Amino acid sequence: MADDGWISADDYDGDIPFLSDEENRMRALARQAKADAASDDELPFGGFDNSEKIEAPVTSDVVGECPCCGSQVVDREKAFFCNNYDCNFALWKNNKFFQAISKEMTRDVAEELLTCGTVRLDGCKSVKTGNTFNCYVDLTVDEEERAQFAIRFPKKKYRRQ
Ligand SMILES: [Zn+2]
Repeated sequence: MADDGWISADDYDGDIPFLSDEENRMRALARQAKADAASDDELPFGGFDNSEKIEAPVTSDVVGECPCCGSQVVDREKAFFCNNYDCNFALWKNNKFFQAISKEMTRDVAEELLTCGTVRLDGCKSVKTGNTFNCYVDLTVDEEERAQFAIRFPKKKYRRQ
């Protein structure tokens, strides 16, 4: 519709004085029919079947890929376990290696290890000596799919404030 300030007679929603009552009633009915038809149009956000339940995605448990078999490693109470029953790989949360440097096997650490094979840990503290340091911990696996950790220090030494 051209926006010239005029509307067509069909869009006028009142009685037109020079028409008969009958004609005005017919026009009113026609306008009502038109409005009803418009509201029957499908709404873009309608039409969903709400009776269908949406299951919570189990992928939220997945922390990464098993370095032994490539299956998914999932977050469980005591460890990050490989989902493959034939595989023994696990990153235990109660972890002596990490405890010795006053660190924990958190989900973030596990994710980093599974993604990069290494994780940088700042502010480690040796339980034995009390020394604090930053280091990298590298993850490898032995032939029995057991996780092995090794501390690695950056080659260059940076003076930290
Ligand atoms: Zn595995």
